[in-house]
This record gives sequence, C-alpha cells and structure tokens, in this order.
Amino acid sequence: MKGLESIGHFIDGKTVGSADGASMLSVDPTGRTAWAEVARGSTTDVDRAVAAARSAFTEGPWPRMTQDERSAILHDVADALQDHADEMALLDTRDMGRPIALTRDNDIARSAANLRFFADDARLAVDTSFPGRPGHHIYTRHEPAGVVAAVSPWNFPLMQATWKIAPALAYGNTVVLKPAEQSPASATRLAELAVQAGLPPGVLNVVHGPGPGGAGEALVAHQGVDLITFTGETRTGEAIMRAAAQGVRAVSFELGGKGASVIFADANLDKAVSVAADAAFSNAGQICLAGSRILVERSVHDRVVEALVDKARQLRLGDPRDPRTQVGPLSSAEHHAKVSGHLRRATEEGAVLLAGGDQEGWWVAPTVVVDAPADAAVCREEIFGPVVTVHPFDTEQEAVRVANATPYGLSAMVFTSRLARAHRVAGQLRAGNVWVNCFWVRDLRSPFGGFGHSGIGREGGGHSREFFTEPKTVVMDVT
Ligand code: NAD
Repeated sequence: MKGLESIGHFIDGKTVGSADGASMLSVDPTGRTAWAEVARGSTTDVDRAVAAARSAFTEGPWPRMTQDERSAILHDVADALQDHADEMALLDTRDMGRPIALTRDNDIARSAANLRFFADDARLAVDTSFPGRPGHHIYTRHEPAGVVAAVSPWNFPLMQATWKIAPALAYGNTVVLKPAEQSPASATRLAELAVQAGLPPGVLNVVHGPGPGGAGEALVAHQGVDLITFTGETRTGEAIMRAAAQGVRAVSFELGGKGASVIFADANLDKAVSVAADAAFSNAGQICLAGSRILVERSVHDRVVEALVDKARQLRLGDPRDPRTQVGPLSSAEHHAKVSGHLRRATEEGAVLLAGGDQEGWWVAPTVVVDAPADAAVCREEIFGPVVTVHPFDTEQEAVRVANATPYGLSAMVFTSRLARAHRVAGQLRAGNVWVNCFWVRDLRSPFGGFGHSGIGREGGGHSREFFTEPKTVVMDVT
C-alpha cells in the first residue's frame, strides 16, 4: 500500500509475502494511523514455515553443529542486534507505543543478553553419567527436541521473542515464531539480521497474522510442530493447550498476572512507593509482572496513597518517540477500550479514582484507585494498563490472604525492613517471582514462570534446557 512500510514473513532464509497475497495493517498507536502493511499468513504460509523448519532440523547443519559453533553464531546475532539498536527500538515503539527510552536503553540490551546468555548456558551445560552398575556405562544426552512453535505477545515484542528463540536455538532446535499481530516488525527484521549473521536458512522462521482463526491457531495445531512455547493471556493458553493435546505436544506457558505489592509500615516508605509505582505504571502497566494491587498497612495507608498519587501525576505522558516520555499510549484501539472500560466499571462499582484516567487518544494516565470493593472487577481481573488499586490491611496474615486471593500467581513484591518478616511473607506468597524491597531484577539462570493461572513450567537457565531438549538415557554393556 502506498506510503506504508512493508513487512513480510521470513521463511527459509527469505523475506516473503503471503502465498495468497493477503495483508493486514500495523497501526502506530501514537497517531492512530497505519504505518506498515504486514503479510497475513494463512495455513499455506504456516505449512511452508514449518516445512522449512523441519527440513533445517532433519537435514540442515544447525542441530549437528557443535555447541561452540552454535554459540558463536548466536553471539554474532546478538552483535548484529546491538549494531542495529536504534532501528530495532524504533520498530517496537512504532508498533505498540512503548517509550523509546525503554525500547532502546532496556529492551535491546536485554534481548542481546537473552541470546548471549543461552549461547553460553548451552555451551557450559553438562550431561550426567551414573557409575553405580559395574559392567554398564549409563549416561544421559540432552538432544534438540525438534521444531518449536514460539507464540509471543506485544508488550515487549523483541524481548519476548528473543526470550523464546534464544534457548530454542541454543539447544539445537529450529523455530517458527508467530509474533503478536500488533507488533510484527521487529521479528522479521531480527530474522533477517540473524541470517546475515550466519544463522542457516530455515532455522528461524517468522509467520505473521492473528491468533484465533489465523496463523497462530494454524501454527499450534500443526502436527509438524514438536513443542510450543507461548506467552500471552491465560484464556489463549487454554486454547493452545487444547490444540497441543492433539499429538501430545509439550507446552511452556507464561500467562497473565495480578501481582500485589505489600507495603508494611516498617518499610522505607519513600523507596517502597517509588518501586511500587514503577511496578504498577512502567510500560503503561502493560506488564504481566505488574504490581497492579498495592496492599498497605493501615497506619501508613493515607501517607502511601498521597505519595503514590504524587508519583502518578509526575510521570510524563507523551509521544513515545520522545526520549523524555515515561508513559506512552496503550498499544491498540481494542486495548484502550478495554482499559478505559475497566475505569468506568470501577467507578460504577463504587471505587474512587484519585489520579489519572482516560486521556485524549489512546493514553491512560497513571491511575490510583481506592475504596474498590474486594469483589470489584478492577481488583480481580488483569487490566494490563496503568491502573493500580490500593487497599489497607491490619495484619500480616490478612495481607498474605488478600495478596493470594487471585487465581493468578506470577509476581509479588514485599516492602519491609524486618528480615524475618521478609522471608516469612515471601515464603507464603503464591507467586513464581517474589521481590523484596525491589522489582524487576532478574538473573537469567533463575526459574521464571507462574503459579496457578499464570503459567505452566519455568524457563530460564537449566529450566529452559529441560523444556527445549529431549533427555535420553543410554545404557551400554561394557563387559
Ligand atoms: P494474547 O494471548 O492475546 O496473544 C498472545 C499471542 O498469542 C499473540 O501472538 C496472538 O496472536 C496469539 N494467539 C491468540 N490466540 C491464539 C490461538 N487461539 N492460538 C494460537 N495463538 C494465539 O496476549 P497479548 O494480549 O498479546 O499479551 C498480553 C497478555 O500476555 C497478558 O495477559 C499478559 O499478562 C501476558 N504476558 C505474560 C507474560 C509472562 O511472562 N507471564 C509476559 C508478557 C505478557
């Protein structure tokens, strides 16, 4: 289409259009206008991509390379990504409105780190041997599992894609990536850079299109796919799990969240408010790990609310391409309608909005909600916007009970200066990631994932190796 950038699928080492010529538009949420025409994949395109990945797996060099050779190529891909940092950051910012200060200064470094970390982790991994049976040599091998379908969301497009691609590739698999339809651009460009950096054709393929009824559904149903790694909504996870049952394919899921930040009166309150505000409002709250409920010990509740409202009002809304912008627009018209609908409903259900609210365009200003009844939708459902509810509590037990009163279990934050309490509460929170007096800090060796409706399995370090390989036991008679 005239005046628009063109984004193709990436299949067998080449950027290509859809077999039937179909396309869709990527809308820049800043100006609410289309900026790119994107290939819209059908089952034919998915078939081509899976066939390329299968052929690269069964006949190509990638699974047969030494770990050192694979590792060197993945480091070269990371170099290429960092050499194109400005270009790559802008693609994600245009697609989904994440401020450039975050896409450029945070996501590129983290995406390169994903590639480098798994390149090294795979190289250093060891297999086990079991010396206990005289006359036999018994040992394990971790072999590449096959063709991986990676289905990723739009909230950190490049970071999420590399978090899946990097371990899948490092352990010798081939991949078909289906990025979110709202944020397709950086995935195709990453695949192009990867092949230029030495990744053999067919090892990383990208197919675009919607999930339900589109390329996503076709990919996860495809019987040429051996395992599925997915990040997105819990409901989508349920649909993908049903598809994966056909042919008993393994799944690894990172799903939704409704994290709680628990602030005790003994905490360093300035720090607690600052970190809890970041956990609630960063990326306009479009973070699975967001602390979207703040529970505050009653004696300091009003003070914390006041400081939080101040913080919320200080955050700078604006054009996400401006490096000073802290809060960009929400990612799409549908998502903006969902978040603003939540705000309207919260008021109808008796809650009070102290700061923020819906703005011109697709912006929602950081919003602090108080007095929401415990059963209000704003307290129970994942909003995925810059909206935080604040609730007073009287005892530690009550704080833990309320924090855990959700089917999700992805993240929780505890703010206290008492060591024993920190450990005690961290031990009782039903969440895969608990931060004490901090947020967001990660070590890629540690397991990442969620309890309950927040996911299945863990990724990170050896956990990713377990998922992306088939361990095999070999027993040899040596008499
Ligand atoms: P989504 O589930 O709508 O879509 C995610 C991806 O799945 C997209 O690529 C989409 O096209 C695809 N998809 C949708 N339906 C499908 C189907 N039936 N079959 C195959 N593919 C399908 O999620 P989203 O709106 O893109 O992302 C936001 C959600 O992701 C939030 O719930 C958030 O909490 C979650 N998330 C979780 C984590 C985590 O690590 N736990 C990280 C980021 C985002």
